[in-house]
Order: sequence, then C-alpha cells, then structure tokens
Amino acid sequence: ALQCTDLYRFFRAGDEETLALRGVSLRVGRGETVAVAGPSGSGKSTLLNCLAGLDEPAGGAVVVGGEQISHRPESRRARIRSQRLGILLQSGNLVAHLSVRDNIRLAQAAARRRSANTQDQSHPAGCRSRTPEELLDQVGLTSRATAIPTELSGGELARAGLAVAVSNNPDALLADEPTGELDGTTERLVLELIRDRAARGTGVLIVTHSSVVMRIADRVIRLHDGRIVA
Ligand code: ATP
Ligand code: MG
Repeated sequence: ALQCTDLYRFFRAGDEETLALRGVSLRVGRGETVAVAGPSGSGKSTLLNCLAGLDEPAGGAVVVGGEQISHRPESRRARIRSQRLGILLQSGNLVAHLSVRDNIRLAQAAARRRSANTQDQSHPAGCRSRTPEELLDQVGLTSRATAIPTELSGGELARAGLAVAVSNNPDALLADEPTGELDGTTERLVLELIRDRAARGTGVLIVTHSSVVMRIADRVIRLHDGRIVA
C-alpha cells in the first residue's frame, strides 16, 4: 500500500544541521498495521510528513498505491493525498468552521472530484467508502455530528480527525499519535477503527507510544536519530 526507500531529510538552522532522516526504508502492505515508536526528536513526524507528500525528502522516494508522491508537483501530491491517503497529524486535520459531519463530506467530495478529473474511478482499497453516518457511528460521534471543532473535547477531536482521515477509504492511513491523550474507551474505539481499516485493505502506519496499539500492530518499527534501529 505504501513504500519508501532510502529517505533522507536535513534541516538547517544557522550553522546547525539536523539529520532528521538518514536512509529510512520501509513497506506497509495491504491490510497491514505498522506502529512507529522512538524518542522525541527521532524523526517520526518528519517521516510521516515525507510519506504524506507534505514534506520533500532530500533523497529517496515514496510510493503510495503504486504512484510516486515524492518529487512531484504539489497539485499531483494533493491529488494522491486526497484519493489515496488518510492523514492525521499531531496538529489535526479538521476545517475549523465546519461541523464534524461537513468535514467528512468535504473530504469525500474532494476525493470524488479528484477521481473524476483523472478518470480513475477505482476505489483504491477495493470497496465502497463508508457514509458520513457510518463513520460518525464508528467513532462514537453521532450525537456530536453538528458540532464544530472548537466545541469538541480533546478525545472527540482525535476521533473526528480519524473519521475524516479514513472517509476516502484510503490505500494507506498515516496517523501521528492519535491515541495520545485518549481514555480507555476512546482508545478502544480507535483500535477498532484501525482493525476495520486493515480488514478493508488499508495499510496503517501509526506513530504511537501506546503499548496497546503496539500489541495490535503486525510490526513495530523503532526510530533513533533518523534511522530504523529495530
Ligand atoms: P516527537 O515525538 O517529539 O513528536 P519526532 O520523532 O516526531 O518527535 P520530528 O518532529 O520528526 O521528531 O523531528 C526530528 C528532528 O528534526 C528533531 O531534531 C527536530 O528538532 C528536527 N526538525 C523537525 N522539523 C524541523 C524543522 N521544520 N526545522 C528544523 N528542524 C526540524
Ligand atoms: Mg512528532
């Protein structure tokens, strides 16, 4: 579903150079769940940003559902993101003035419009997308469907973000600590959602410190100083 080879990313601030990624290669197959762990500053978010086409690696390549997303114009990357990827970053993914339900509708409409433009009618993960109502129910937010993001609690925000991220039935789901500040019940909802995605063929890459999430993952990758060490 998702693959990267030999990714390098440097950041320069004054005379200091940070090597955030030093030759990272990995592959997430269809329906596979991979957890990414590692200390703060080890490159986890940088890796996710490069995989999502939100950051450009200095070297290496990223392929999503058979399409190369790295070193492409932004319009192309945006199309691949909207059609093939579900993305939940540490900063969230919701449009501030829209309700949870309208955020889901917007993401689905964008994915459909981009598919129509490219004559690519295939559902990347091979089955129909869930309806907004099904997605809201799945994350336990049916009663909060018309709330806007500022009216949601931290846990509700994370669940709404996940519902939006999977609303296009993505090839791959990239999530940066979605269970960071969740209670037990919410964490279970998130885990069920990840299992459901895996059953539908989505490859899941999830940055997490949660041992519960690592236990349900097929593999755990450990990053240290921009390298995979285990
Ligand atoms: P955390 O667990 O705290 O979220 P992380 O593993 O996600 O950490 P990254 O955010 O990927 O870590 O950062 C990796 C390294 O790159 C860090 O040393 C960080 O300071 C540096 N870095 C990240 N983004 C930038 C940037 N835009 N400019 C300069 N340095 C950056
Ligand atoms: Mg991070």
